[in-house]
Amino acid sequence: MENTAPKFLIDLLKKEYDLELVNKILEGYSIKRYTTFRVNTLKSCDKDVLDILDSMQVKYIKYDAIEHAYILPDRSAKEFYDTKLVFDGLIYFQSLSSMLPPLFLDIKETDTILDMAAAPGGKTTMMAALSNGKAQITACEVNKIRSERLKHNIEVQNAKNVFVMRADARMLDDFFSFDKILLDAPCSGSGTIDLNNRKALKAFSYDLVKNSAHLQYELLKKAIQILKPNSCMVYSTCSILPIENEEIISRALKEFNIEIVPIEFRGLPLLPTKIKGCLLVLPNEYFEGFFIAKIRKK
Ligand code: SAM
Repeated sequence: MENTAPKFLIDLLKKEYDLELVNKILEGYSIKRYTTFRVNTLKSCDKDVLDILDSMQVKYIKYDAIEHAYILPDRSAKEFYDTKLVFDGLIYFQSLSSMLPPLFLDIKETDTILDMAAAPGGKTTMMAALSNGKAQITACEVNKIRSERLKHNIEVQNAKNVFVMRADARMLDDFFSFDKILLDAPCSGSGTIDLNNRKALKAFSYDLVKNSAHLQYELLKKAIQILKPNSCMVYSTCSILPIENEEIISRALKEFNIEIVPIEFRGLPLLPTKIKGCLLVLPNEYFEGFFIAKIRKK
């Protein structure tokens, strides 16, 4: 039997969105999402990966809006864990929403980049691939086990010039400065809720939302401090609650000399966001719920 979303979450959603949208969100929570992956261009190319999938008689659909992104309409990621594709790092299973934040950083080969909350490294390795392995990336992660996973993924994917730093990113020295920062912040995960996953549902609480918001603001403050002036960063979460998104950004807009750089992306299912120029993705069968803001430090 399917579980229902916690009452406090439904109440929070009803406060923000009209009933039709709340029902769409709840539908997104109960739908099984398609498996998606990106080709790791540091190790392979689309043609070689597709040849392997053809030889395995696996159906795939290209997701045209993101280079090297594919949908597997009738397979789960698990089925590929012991194949060459995963074992040799030729592909990386990643949700389509999670592939979006790095795209808004306009990554160049000469960039120095901080990935502030990096494990397991989906976006770190994507940024490495976007720079052809040339950008100098510092991947920060506080959790020991997760930082080991991050190192493993970086190695398997042949992401060169990535330095893993095991640290609480709130404590990073102000001496650091970066051309670009990705803060894919720890969050409640309210955009990725799966009503069929009882264990994850149990871990979801109002305290988690509140504590995440507190941590998110502390991390964002540090990010702004160590971002070079006239440079841009991206703040993202897989939450669709304004407490973890717009409210964090609004506070920072008041406290720091920063501005929102408007972003757009065609073909996304969107929820209305309170800050013009940010993106709030509606969870559905293709996308996880996700919030993305691009910020420029003046
Ligand atoms: N960007 C990752 C990716 O694409 O694979 C996902 C990051 S996940 C949303 C957030 C990560 O932040 C978790 O691995 C968590 O352990 C880490 N984290 C939490 N608090 C942190 C802190 N204070 N400093 C650094 N990392 C932190």
